Amino acid sequence: MSLKEYRKKRSFSKTQEPGESKQKRKSVKLVYVIQKHDASHLHFDLRLEEEGVLKSWAIPKSPPQEEGIRRLAVQTEDHPLGYEDFEGIIPEGQYGAGKVETWDKGDYLPLEVTSFKRIIEINGKKLSGKFCLIKLKAKEPQDKNWLFFRLKKKD
Ligand code: MN
Repeated sequence: MSLKEYRKKRSFSKTQEPGESKQKRKSVKLVYVIQKHDASHLHFDLRLEEEGVLKSWAIPKSPPQEEGIRRLAVQTEDHPLGYEDFEGIIPEGQYGAGKVETWDKGDYLPLEVTSFKRIIEINGKKLSGKFCLIKLKAKEPQDKNWLFFRLKKKD
């Protein structure tokens, strides 16, 4: 887990986004957040705490609040812990320039985690219940496409 790519893309003298992870939490609850990011294309950034960083996926459409909605979620670079509290404007000319605001926030419980699948129980205000993230078969090695959807209540 490295924040190298995250840091490389940003100039911390110009953006107010955090550069480092905040000290590791004592709580066992893991951070869950979805940030609405009005960049060149409006999208939603799903972030899940894992091993001291926030694993991140960009969702081009509104997050799946109901069963039966499957959303593409493109994995992006790990973000530092603490980023879940960031709201504001990333300045013009900076990576991801545009407005970031919290869309939903809470915690989550990992139920099943592999390199290509995560079943998690999200405890947020807009999303709550069991969700699945599953990696799509890559056509190119750099493909990082996942599907994100709500599991049926009985699952
Ligand atoms: Mn984004």
